Amino acid sequence: MKLYNTLNRKIEDFKPIDGKRVKIYTCGPTVYSFAHIGNFTSYIYWDLLIRTLMLDGYNVERVLNITDVGHLASDADDGEDKMEKGAKREGKTVWEIAEMYMGDYLDNFRTLNLIEPSNICRATDFIEEDIKLVDALEKKGFLYDTSDGLYFDTSKFPTYADFARLDLDHLKAGARVDFNSEKRNVSDFAVWKWIRDGEDHAMQWEYRGRMGYPGWHLECATIIHEKLGEPIDIHCGGVDHIPVHHTNEIAEIEAAYGHKMANYWLHNNFITIEGEKISKSIGNVYYFSDLNKKGYTHMDYKMWVLQGHFQSERNFAFSDLSAAKQRLLNYRNFAALRWQKDATDLSSVKKAIMEQLNNNLNSAGAFAELDKAINANVPDKDFVDFLDEAFGLRIAETTPDISDEIKQKIKERFEAKKVRDFAKADQLRNEISREGVVLLDGANGTIWQFAK
Ligand code: AMP
Ligand code: ZN
Repeated sequence: MKLYNTLNRKIEDFKPIDGKRVKIYTCGPTVYSFAHIGNFTSYIYWDLLIRTLMLDGYNVERVLNITDVGHLASDADDGEDKMEKGAKREGKTVWEIAEMYMGDYLDNFRTLNLIEPSNICRATDFIEEDIKLVDALEKKGFLYDTSDGLYFDTSKFPTYADFARLDLDHLKAGARVDFNSEKRNVSDFAVWKWIRDGEDHAMQWEYRGRMGYPGWHLECATIIHEKLGEPIDIHCGGVDHIPVHHTNEIAEIEAAYGHKMANYWLHNNFITIEGEKISKSIGNVYYFSDLNKKGYTHMDYKMWVLQGHFQSERNFAFSDLSAAKQRLLNYRNFAALRWQKDATDLSSVKKAIMEQLNNNLNSAGAFAELDKAINANVPDKDFVDFLDEAFGLRIAETTPDISDEIKQKIKERFEAKKVRDFAKADQLRNEISREGVVLLDGANGTIWQFAK
């Protein structure tokens, strides 16, 4: 398998650390509001990654975190905690907010038929372990105390700028005037935040005799260390994570434990909606519930996402979603043939699809291979199951065989046409179409499809 590795900015052959076992970590959602369709693109791409690895015969061990504390409104260490903000907005406790939005996230995750991670870890379940990591950093002399938290001194970690290829001098010049004056370097970041006098922050834990809470990046470093053990094979996240979040995760792990964090880093690009950045003020923040109301399913959206590439910036438009819906229907109608005709040998198509997927997850190329095949071939059950293993579009499940009753009507219609009783044939066709099934008469007899 070839993957574009952000670490080296090039496509590389994937070589796992430990034979057939692959350790993957994907940065998860901050559960302070509903996740919109843009947020879910990354989980759809990583699902494709996991499915491809599984088809290649790997055992995938994947951890997903749920951020339920410590993610501040700005990626720098200021602004309100997103969870606290969500709780105030809705007059609920932070714990209730976390529960509700995590539930919604996981519901959508399952409806999208994304493979469930081996471990889903909530940040707040790892506070003791976070503290172990803070202590390790302290012992090695990477931290300094300020009035608002323990900060990581990035000047003591010489490779800090490497991952994101940061220009630290430039960063310094661009720093805001009201920048936290206790920070030694502009790129320093909070590992642990202190609760200040009068600060209203519901989530807090005691450490060194004071109350505080973990900085955002700490949870990923901790969970990786505890659940998978660094180095892991693949770490995934959005491109926005490269300069701050992932850079800081790497600094924490590598400074504390002296091990490389991950061998491969995959970053998905963003989608825009109808040409604009997704934003509340533009009013183009769509959720799955909005798509469902317009007649599109989670699977239609997943199809749309998989038609593109994780590294490409993409623009979402409802007209494109209609095209994706149609394409998925074409695949279902292809799958319906497995009940009706003798199958063709599709092993070369399967191989071509796998080659595309193994080529840096080129699902668009994989679908192009499938499109070439569907008009002149008939799949068997195994081939349809393979498509579902590769893409998780629930094609088999949504194209069951039709009932015996409809089959009988198709037969009767065929007989009626033979004796030129067209009135009866038409009436039967109407009855069949009321069941959402359309008939296509061709040179090789009649086949049925699902109505568009
Ligand atoms: P947020 O909860 O807004 O911080 O978003 C969580 C993550 O979702 C971000 O860190 C991004 O990686 C991802 N994300 C947000 N907006 C988009 C988008 N328009 N397209 C793709 N991914 C996005
Ligand atoms: Zn993370």
